[in-house]
Amino acid sequence: MRSYDKYFRENRLPHMWCPGCGNGIVMKAIVQAIEAKNLDQDKTVIVSGIGCSSRASGYMNFDTLHTAHGRAIPFATGIKLANPELNVIVITGDGDCTAIGGNHFIHGARRNVDLTVILFNNNIYGMTGGQASPLTPLGKKATTAPYGSVDRPFDPCHLAEAAGATYVARSTAYHVKHLSDMIFQGMGNKGFSFIEAITQCPIAYGRKNKLGDAPEMLKWMSETAVMKAAYDKLPEEKREGKFPIGVFYNSEFTEYTTAYQKVIDLAGGAR
Ligand code: SF4
Repeated sequence: MRSYDKYFRENRLPHMWCPGCGNGIVMKAIVQAIEAKNLDQDKTVIVSGIGCSSRASGYMNFDTLHTAHGRAIPFATGIKLANPELNVIVITGDGDCTAIGGNHFIHGARRNVDLTVILFNNNIYGMTGGQASPLTPLGKKATTAPYGSVDRPFDPCHLAEAAGATYVARSTAYHVKHLSDMIFQGMGNKGFSFIEAITQCPIAYGRKNKLGDAPEMLKWMSETAVMKAAYDKLPEEKREGKFPIGVFYNSEFTEYTTAYQKVIDLAGGAR
């Protein structure tokens, strides 16, 4: 039985998350991946933006940076450029990453910066009051969409791949071992790794949409998430209401700090 105590700052407890929130599950899956990968705690940096999930960096016993709304990826890029030896992990939410930080997300992926970005997708802005995010499903209610959202959500995994990320995966807070494996694999990719973690917000999202409490929301994940290999074989009509989880894309391309070092060398300078 492993103890993960060393990865958490006990003096920051109690945490601020609501009972039943999935953020703690995803945070644990991250440290499980760190443990399995045997990353040096002193050479691992956790960077987060703003929002409920982004509070995780404060609870984690690493060098951590809790930055500005939507700006975690540029801060993380700066850290990686300053010291490419560091393992840099980004924690971000759906509002943080795909709305305010949407452009940073696209350009981090296109540059293939060696970051492991974990998007906690709870389909809503939790901390700021339950506003609709770019990942709120059509018809679901939010404080800014009291009759149901009419804005089409996009798929952040498709966007990450199209923008140039070299590792793209999805899992859920229900599939903890699988989620941890997806993050573990992402940490092994030398480049921009993007992992979408579907997680439950029973308070700001679940309650407003009558989705039940946390166990019911987790049950929904267990019933609707399908492993990619099986999902790919489903006929179109059987995909209705389901979504795939697993690795969607994995490729190799020159990593940004490596490319940048070449520029520095050409210019005759030292990093
Ligand atoms: Fe979690 Fe939602 Fe509460 Fe935020 S508002 S802590 S996401 S349950």
